Amino acid sequence: IGYRIFTDAGLFETFRIPTKEFMNYFQKLEDGYREKPYHNRIHAGDVLHAVYYLSTQPIPGFTQVNPEDTSDSLHKNGSSSDTDSDSGGPSGHTPTVTPRASFTADDSYGILAGNLPALELMALYVAAAMHDYDHPGRTNAFLVATRASQAILYNDRAVLENHHTAAAWSLLLSCPQYNFLSQLDEAEYKRFRFLVIEFILATDLKRHFDFLVEFNAKVNDSDAQGIDWSAEPDRLLVSQMCIKLADISGPTKYKNLHINWTYRISEEFYEQGDEEARLGLPISPYMDRRSPQLAKLQETFINHLVAPLCNAYGQAGLLPGQWVEEDEADQKSDGDISGNESTNEGGTADEDESGNEVAKLPIKKSRKMVSKLTQHIKDNHEWWLKVLEEEAKEKAEKEKKERDEKKKIDDTEMETIEEEEKEIEEKIELKNVKPKEKKKVRLGPVSTMVESDQLDDSSQNSCQDDDK
Ligand SMILES: [Zn+2]
Repeated sequence: IGYRIFTDAGLFETFRIPTKEFMNYFQKLEDGYREKPYHNRIHAGDVLHAVYYLSTQPIPGFTQVNPEDTSDSLHKNGSSSDTDSDSGGPSGHTPTVTPRASFTADDSYGILAGNLPALELMALYVAAAMHDYDHPGRTNAFLVATRASQAILYNDRAVLENHHTAAAWSLLLSCPQYNFLSQLDEAEYKRFRFLVIEFILATDLKRHFDFLVEFNAKVNDSDAQGIDWSAEPDRLLVSQMCIKLADISGPTKYKNLHINWTYRISEEFYEQGDEEARLGLPISPYMDRRSPQLAKLQETFINHLVAPLCNAYGQAGLLPGQWVEEDEADQKSDGDISGNESTNEGGTADEDESGNEVAKLPIKKSRKMVSKLTQHIKDNHEWWLKVLEEEAKEKAEKEKKERDEKKKIDDTEMETIEEEEKEIEEKIELKNVKPKEKKKVRLGPVSTMVESDQLDDSSQNSCQDDDK
């Protein structure tokens, strides 16, 4: 995947990357992912693919900044303060990634890669490939609680993310045959390393809401200034949001794929839960295999983490998708899971972002963007809600059945007790009967012959008949 992406993005030529070293390193990197149910090499490939998708697929209304029209640092490499990079050179090119041919007819689309310098794009792809390197299949909280050596090394802070980054970089520098960055100049290397570290550390979910708040304040809030593509901190934040979304993109996939990843993360959680039990630690939420809560885990995960992130990213006009006519859009019922939709009516909305092309549309014509990602999140969220509903119904039915059975048992016991009490009462009463009046009588379900002097005439008769 890495080779194909680097080829498509023209990164081999742009940074004079030696293919042999690149392949050596990426193979070693892949080998360094452990055989865990979730955090394995497939997840790394999946996240790499996801950042590629987000950075190269056409985004409706996305304005690509023309590098020729700007005199800022946008399409230079390295930091804007790095004078070396101002000279251009082999790495001073924009990425060569182009939108799919089928979309190029409508210039109201753009791609994220078009607004990122090649060095930043390469850092995003390399970070995605590295981001869970040597993951032990345990959470940060577990490593801290068990006083793992890595937790001590990183002072309990972003333990895993620090480890993935440091271990992947150590591997890169451990052997000249892995160093595919050898042709980068000092400034480029420095900036590249800084970006990769920032991108991987951004995947720490402990900082999830900090990122959301910062991003919304910069881009989405009513007084937000919007993304300034010529400003490095703005582009850094966008790329961090991009890799974060890629990392938790399970619910943005179609249902079966999403469910498959759900089973995988659950199994990894259960393995941690098993170890917690063995160590005498309390089993963490969702990690007890004796009480699976897949639907609850996913519903919460989507509702609190994935959907807010995807909505913020989409609201900022960064989600790949398609413009569709309003009627068609209604049928597709796109939007975030709270029902918000990104629309473009009469060519006036989103004018700044989508440019003149949109503004020229006939006034009555309206269209809006639909994204497979938001649609899948919505579908998957509804699916888990349905599962939760069914689980609740099943639970209620089971409880009712148990209650009914208990009641049945109680009633039987009560009947038995009543019968026994009745028998005892009758026995007591029979004892007071004069010997000559004693009759034998059959009582209750059990054939118990008792003596009675309390029988009415007919009973007496039948008893007498019995005697006969
Ligand atoms: Zn990950």
